[in-house]
Amino acid sequence: MKILILGGGIGGLVASNLLSKRLGKKHEVTVVDRKTKYESTPSFPWLMMRWREPQQITRNLSHQLRGDIWSYGIFRQCIRV
Ligand SMILES: Cc1cc2nc3c(=O)[nH]c(=O)nc-3n(C[C@H](O)[C@H](O)[C@H](O)COP(=O)(O)OP(=O)(O)OC[C@H]3O[C@@H](n4cnc5c(N)ncnc54)[C@H](O)[C@@H]3O)c2cc1C
Repeated sequence: MKILILGGGIGGLVASNLLSKRLGKKHEVTVVDRKTKYESTPSFPWLMMRWREPQQITRNLSHQLRGDIWSYGIFRQCIRV
């Protein structure tokens, strides 16, 4: 089975990690996002207050995904996780 998840935000990451874990390697889970980095939206006010630096509230999307998931930044090269 091939599953496509649109958006690698909180919802997309949780869904892809859960599906990948439960379905196993027989199935392919693909996450599509326009960015290659995950940004923690609840942390944005800290950024505005300069309590955090951008690199403290962002992570490479590939590091947030399990196993054999592919992450495609639209207009960017795809990354094998
Ligand atoms: C300041 C703040 C504080 C918050 N605090 C909390 C909290 O305490 N508890 C809580 O439960 N929720 C909180 N939220 C809400 C929470 O952040 C959102 O509900 C959650 O991020 C929604 O998840 P999502 O996956 O639907 O969307 P997002 O996390 O926004 O992810 C959407 C993803 O889709 C991608 N995308 C969008 N359009 C396209 C496109 N056209 N092409 C390619 N990619 C695209 C984006 O790049 C993004 O990565 C807070 C939000 C904010 C702003």
